[in-house]
Amino acid sequence: CGIVGIVGKTPVAPQIVEALRRLEYRGYDSAGVATLEGGKLDRRRAEGKLRNLETKLSQAPLGGIIGIGHTRWATHGKPNETNAHPHATDKLAVVHNGIIENFRELKTGLEAKGIIFETETDTEVVAQLVTYEMRQGRPPIEAVAVTLPRLRGAFALGFLFSGEDDLMIGARHGAPLAVGYGEGEMYLGSDALALAPFTDEVAYLDDGDWAILSRGGADIRDEAGRMVQRTRHKIQSGS
Ligand code: GLU
Repeated sequence: CGIVGIVGKTPVAPQIVEALRRLEYRGYDSAGVATLEGGKLDRRRAEGKLRNLETKLSQAPLGGIIGIGHTRWATHGKPNETNAHPHATDKLAVVHNGIIENFRELKTGLEAKGIIFETETDTEVVAQLVTYEMRQGRPPIEAVAVTLPRLRGAFALGFLFSGEDDLMIGARHGAPLAVGYGEGEMYLGSDALALAPFTDEVAYLDDGDWAILSRGGADIRDEAGRMVQRTRHKIQSGS
């Protein structure tokens, strides 16, 4: 189970797969990638090994210079393609590690509003909650800000938004997440090892932090929404 995100300058799908390979040691049962191309979200997902995802990507490549990727260790819902991440709506795509413990009550609330779920995962409530807030007219950052306090459990999240070519949001609540700093590129990763091919500078988010990434850098906020600074560490890169 691992998360990768790249706000880049060149096509990111191959880099995302490379980073996911470096997270394979954590174990996983399926994998997926979502990118934005011309502002439009698209994704490829596959059950089983990364090789299966790569086969799909070679048959139907994903362009785009911003994207997120995931290796899944299923906790809620069978390990199949439908339940594989990224989960997506017309507004966004999301990757998630960990468990949303109160997903049932959140799901019931959304279903009562007429929202139809496509998967058996706990993760899809996050996608649907943020999408619901955006349909009420909230911009992406605000929609995430009002959703995060509603989620219980230990999790890390990465969001990509339709039409937003220079925005990615990561959140850490009981599961690790690091922000990587590049030259006009920014990264999200479950650990520094995943990001080592791309950058030698990372900041680990504190518990409760969430980070708003663009090519120019990252705004990191704590659980209360205050802007915070997190120490940047030099890591060994290119290894
Ligand atoms: N609970 C989520 C799922 O079952 C995420 C699992 C993971 O950490 O990979 O899809």
